[in-house]
Amino acid sequence: MMNRRQFVGATGAAVFAGISSAFAATYDLIIKGGRVIDPSMGLDATRDIAISGGRIAAVEASIAADAAETIDARGKIVTAGLIDIHTHAGRSKEGPPMCLQDGVTGWVDAGSGGADNIDAVAAIARGAPQIGRCLVNIARTGVVTPTGELHDINAANVAMAKAAVERNRDVVVGVKARLSDNVAGANDLEALRRAQEVATSFNLPVMIHVGQNYSPLRAILALLKRGDIITHIYAPGKNGILDEKGFLSPDVMAAHRRGVIFDFGNGVSDHFDWDTVEKATKQGLWPDTFSTDWNTSSKTSGVVDLPNVMSKFIMYGMPLNQIIAAATVNAARCFPAFDDRGTLNVGAPADIAIMELREGTFEFLDNYKGTRTGRQRLFPSEVVLGGKRVQRA
Ligand SMILES: [Zn+2]
Repeated sequence: MMNRRQFVGATGAAVFAGISSAFAATYDLIIKGGRVIDPSMGLDATRDIAISGGRIAAVEASIAADAAETIDARGKIVTAGLIDIHTHAGRSKEGPPMCLQDGVTGWVDAGSGGADNIDAVAAIARGAPQIGRCLVNIARTGVVTPTGELHDINAANVAMAKAAVERNRDVVVGVKARLSDNVAGANDLEALRRAQEVATSFNLPVMIHVGQNYSPLRAILALLKRGDIITHIYAPGKNGILDEKGFLSPDVMAAHRRGVIFDFGNGVSDHFDWDTVEKATKQGLWPDTFSTDWNTSSKTSGVVDLPNVMSKFIMYGMPLNQIIAAATVNAARCFPAFDDRGTLNVGAPADIAIMELREGTFEFLDNYKGTRTGRQRLFPSEVVLGGKRVQRA
């Protein structure tokens, strides 16, 4: 999936082309001495990063120039700003600045709003400090908890959903359909067909939420196109990714090979358990993207923050650069709106996450009160957004 769409060259590069090293440049900000991990450039090394005019100006072993401000990142990990493709940050104006503190410099609200209420979510996205986008729920009500929004298939109104996208083309980047049995029951396949009808008319992806599905997963996967996203991939229970013997269904890997994107989607209930993560990752199914399914109460749930969610996969042996890729460049490639994000390439917007990788004993939670103990955990440390250091709350 890494090369599914070519990375579009960052637009600001030309601005800096004329600066020669003989010229004593003065930068706005230099982040010094961090372990810079940028899978978009195949980089994992100690580097200084210079920022000017809100964009990355240089990434070099040592930058001696002056800067208005310096961040000492020695002993820390420096990555492109994290992108969380399944959140509910658009529910209130408090959401976006809260997740920004965690290093999330780009988010997608996945279906909080449908045709009836997407305009409010879109307004939050437009007013957010960082880039925020949203998926319109195929159900006109948006997410309804705990009863579910698709038990009456008439809630999935194609004409109304299309009008909702039309009104909010600047921030709506896809269509969401929650298809678990408790949300959609026997309407899952028809709801997905309707979501595809809306999405394909705008050339947008669909994100589906799965788990304890009414229909066989094979039938659901058959309705997904290249670039569509499945969230909550490790949901246990009926019609999931594993058969009764714990083997990964060949249909799952086939969908992955043809370009369907597999998203973690931590959440709080029914979305993953350790047993499924362990069995699926042992058979080679790792997440392409991480997401939190975040909301403003996530700090006190098993989610905590995106770096904590990423740390769960350090515990399972996913290589750190692959983990960083999943939370940056892979996430950016899911939606064209994020084309110049998820990278520290010169010219890209200077959205940067600085994290600490601490060693110790850390307890992680699944959605069934199951705990696992890991030896490493990422903690958010500093955030730079558009070249400016974000004040820590
Ligand atoms: Zn969600």
